[in-house]
Amino acid sequence: MVQHTRGKYTAALRTRFAPTPSGFLHAGNAANALIIFGLAYKFGAKVLLRIDDLDSARVRPEYLDNIWQVLDWLGLKPDEGPATPSEMVQWSQHQRLVNYTLLLDQLVATGRVYACSCSRNQLLQAGNASRYPGNCRHKNVPLEQPGTSWRLNTEGLDPVTWTDAWQGPQIIDIAREQGDFIIRRKDGLPAYHIASLSDDTAFGINLAVRGLDLIGSTGAQLLLAKLAGLTVFQSAVFVHHPLLKGADGQKLSKSAGAAAIGRKAAQSSLMEQGPSPAEHYRSAAALMGAEPASLPEQAQLTDLLQVFQSHDLPHPHALPLSL
Ligand SMILES: [Zn+2]
Repeated sequence: MVQHTRGKYTAALRTRFAPTPSGFLHAGNAANALIIFGLAYKFGAKVLLRIDDLDSARVRPEYLDNIWQVLDWLGLKPDEGPATPSEMVQWSQHQRLVNYTLLLDQLVATGRVYACSCSRNQLLQAGNASRYPGNCRHKNVPLEQPGTSWRLNTEGLDPVTWTDAWQGPQIIDIAREQGDFIIRRKDGLPAYHIASLSDDTAFGINLAVRGLDLIGSTGAQLLLAKLAGLTVFQSAVFVHHPLLKGADGQKLSKSAGAAAIGRKAAQSSLMEQGPSPAEHYRSAAALMGAEPASLPEQAQLTDLLQVFQSHDLPHPHALPLSL
């Protein structure tokens, strides 16, 4: 983070930018990073760069390199986390597998975890693949049985509620909307929810800034945090920002082929061919509610930070520290 006069918030807030190196970053990722750093500037928060490399089969060195190149190009400097690709060894999620196992153990101790031996085909035949119907909930498949995933029995759990600083009051009925979600994958790796929640806890993250597409994930993770008694995450401030839309009005995503930033070897020249940093700053400012004309064509990062300084989040009372 560049050093500027910080906002009027004084408590020790910590947030993170947590990209997955399974593809090149696109404009939606850039907007997410700029909002995270903009809010960090506004609230005087520290920014951790956390690279979610757990699924090593999908990680490629050029995707990793691209994260630092894009952050650098946008003028964003995290306060903590790996500063170069070579520092990934010590910051890798694989160094924290023991934490994830501990969290899984805590959840098993609640008596709500069961093994699911359903095949992909069985799940597809069951209809709505995004909500598991609970086939294995009472089958007593041993947790140790190889090739099974672990699910959380969400039956009878209260809806999750919080006040989101951007989206306002939230009520998410996980049992009804998501059902018994997976917490450990068939290959034995912890599910995304486990690694993300465990890492946020380990790093003391108390300001979580995410795209609106992850609001359901936040609900699931709050449910897990409550079951495991993880208080920092439960009392964190959550900010789910609107997503940058593509020209077709659809969400930008790697799978949908959103234009990568710096796809080829000649990184700097390709970055010059795509939208400039100024255009990314203007997009982020618009998401924050600034009039497009309020940022100059050749906007600098400092112009964007001023937008964050002068605009409140839609639900600022969700921030316990506002003066
Ligand atoms: Zn099953």
